[in-house]
Parts: sequence; structure tokens; C-alpha cells
Amino acid sequence: MASNRNLLVLPGDGIGPEVMNEVRKIIAWMGKKRAVGFDIKEDLVGGAALDKHGVPLSDDAMKTALEADAVLFGSVGGPKWDTADFSKKPERGLLRLRKEMDLFANLRPAKVFDALVDASSLKPEIVKGLDIMIIRELTSGVYFGEPRGRHTNAKGEVEAFDTQRYTAPEIRRVCAVAFELARKRKNKVLSAEKANVMYTGVLWREEATKLHKESYSDVALSHMYADALAMQLLRAPKEFDVIVTDNLFGDILSDEASMLTGSLGLLPSASLGAPDATGRRKALYEPIHGSAPDIAGKGLANPIAQTLSYAMMLRYSFDLGKDADMVELAVENVLKAGYRTGDLLVGNTDGTKKVGTQEMGDAIVKELDRLV
Ligand code: NAD
Repeated sequence: MASNRNLLVLPGDGIGPEVMNEVRKIIAWMGKKRAVGFDIKEDLVGGAALDKHGVPLSDDAMKTALEADAVLFGSVGGPKWDTADFSKKPERGLLRLRKEMDLFANLRPAKVFDALVDASSLKPEIVKGLDIMIIRELTSGVYFGEPRGRHTNAKGEVEAFDTQRYTAPEIRRVCAVAFELARKRKNKVLSAEKANVMYTGVLWREEATKLHKESYSDVALSHMYADALAMQLLRAPKEFDVIVTDNLFGDILSDEASMLTGSLGLLPSASLGAPDATGRRKALYEPIHGSAPDIAGKGLANPIAQTLSYAMMLRYSFDLGKDADMVELAVENVLKAGYRTGDLLVGNTDGTKKVGTQEMGDAIVKELDRLV
């Protein structure tokens, strides 16, 4: 169905195209049953692009991504390209997209489905009902700060160094995303840094506090040192709603939080840029898992993370919250009914039904049919 919603689909490598095929079924269903259509373009990224164009993302694909309202991304990489030159590694395709689209806010929800409460390594009472959102600053901090490098120092020792650097506007723009998002959730933001030992941490805390006072005093704001938060996420994760933190801490804490939920195959993410004159942000949606070469091509991959990435896209890029709710509910119900891909078959498996990628996708579409 034609629409004014421009979507670029980049399935990528490994299980990327397999799980994306299942999302295509939902996109078609949404067009037919809910009149939610997209103008879809598709292109190559990662190893697939390297094989065809000699680069992990062609200039044409980059241009299309910049023009699109949203990019739906699968995954990249695999052993075939492990020996590729560093500048041509499949992952560079994703890094180029993030950089040129200036996607500075990475949203990583960690939600525990009731039906999968046993899949977490933590006790059910600690994770049951867990629903938190970690926002990681994605384009600055120690992964990008200059100077960085390695050399032999005056004592003749090899030395390596990176620079943690943040400007006040970089901190404010990512904290603003956290406050805005909290308003649509439980209205609570926890900002994490190391203000006890780092200058960037002090600035982070000052700017988060200032911005809160100026524009978001209706939202509850608290602060915590990132190491204390790492412990608290395991002790009492349900205390939190939205957590905002820098690139390095966010990298680690969001992986820790994702493990509270049980499987990589369930977790979506969104990366957002600054709003344009019409209020629309550049955005890329992707599962947090990689290309899973160990199971690629076998019909075993769990398509739920990719499906939930699509639901995030409906919610955050197109303001289609009701449709996003419907997709999320369909996933939840299918899990409740016992459908499990191999990655979810842990703990108590009574009453479950082992399915492959396509069966899981079909079950979600069938459940959507029932819900509508
Ligand atoms: P991975 O996420 O691909 O796989 C880790 C484990 O989780 C594997 O056992 C895999 O089978 C399983 N798994 C992952 N997704 C699954 C799913 N949807 N359903 C069922 N099981 C699933 O991480 P890895 O093995 O460290 O990396 C493999 C390749 O992916 C590497 O080339 C890596 O660089 C790349 N990678 C890409 C991205 C990305 O595209 N954003 C992210 C991480 C890793």
C-alpha cells in the first residue's frame, strides 16, 4: 500500500534476512488489516554489500537511509568476512549509518514476558513484570574522544589511551530524550555516571539536573553512580523506569539489563537522532542480536527481536502506539500459548511447543488476526 511513510529495509547477513522475512508478513498484514502502509525500499548492508559493491554500505544505500523516515535493520557480519580489511568489516556499514544519521540516543528496552519468567537467570520474583528502558548515548564519549591511540612512552613502555569527552549539549540532548520518554511511561528517570571520580561524570550530573529544572520538573529525576547501578540492576531492577547514561556505561549496563530477560532473540532496540523542523527524528531499529552464523540458514532463529524492533518503529517514528501495542500483545500471547524457538527452551518447558522461525512468524500473524 502506498503511503507517505518511507521505510528502508536492510536485512543484512546471517539470520538477518530470515527474521526480516517474518516481519514482512506483519508489514503486509498491517497494510491489509489496519491500513498502515509503507513505501518500502530495500538494500544491502554488511557482508552482503561487501560481496556486491566492495563496501559494507554503498553511497546509494546511505543516501536512501538519510531520506527515509525510518530504517529497519537486521544484522551484519559472519565468519566469511572475518578477514576483511578493518575499514571494510561488515560492522562498519552499521557504524556509518549511525554516524551519518547522527543517531545519538540508543533505546534498549528490557522487558520480561510473564510466560518467560523462568528463562531469566534471576529469581522470578525479582524479574516478574520487569519493564525498563535504558538510553545510552551513542555518538560521543570514550569510543570517539580524541586524542586516542598507542605509542611507546618515554620509559620505553607501550602505552595506549582513549579520551572520555562530553560537551554539555551532547549530554542535554540525550537526557531530553530520556525525560520525554519517561513522560510516556512511569515518569521516572535515573541518570547514571561516575561523578565521584570523573570530570565528565560531574558535567553529566550538572547538565541532567539543570535540564530537569528548566524543562522537565514534572518527571522524577534521581542519580546513581554507574557501578552502584550495575549492582542494583541485579538486586532490584524493577525499581527503575528510564535509565540514561553515557556510551561506555550504557554499552555495559544495557547488556547486563538484557540478560535479565533471558534471550538475545527477544530484544529490540532503537537509535534516534535529533528532531527535524517537523519534529521527526532520523531513526534506525534493530534487534540487539548479531547475525548468529551458528544457526543461520537453518530456520531456527527467533524472529521476535526483529518483530519488536518493528513495533518500536511504529511507536517512535510513526506515532502508531496502538498498532505497536497490538504487535507486542500478539508476541506476548504467542509466548503464553507456549510457542518457543530453540533459544527460549530453557528451564521448565512443560506445555511448550518447539517451533522454527517461520512457524513463530506465522503464529504471531495468526494471533494478530485473532486480536483485530
Ligand atoms: P550473536 O548475537 O549473533 O549470537 C550469539 C548467540 O545467540 C549465538 O549462539 C546465536 O545463535 C544466538 N542468537 C542470536 N540471535 C538469535 C536469535 N534471533 N534466535 C536464536 N538465537 C539467537 O553474537 P555473536 O555470535 O557474538 O556474533 C556473530 C556475528 O554477528 C559476528 O560477526 C558479530 O560481529 C556480528 N554482530 C552483529 C551485530 C549487529 O549486526 N548489530 C551485533 C552483534 C554481533
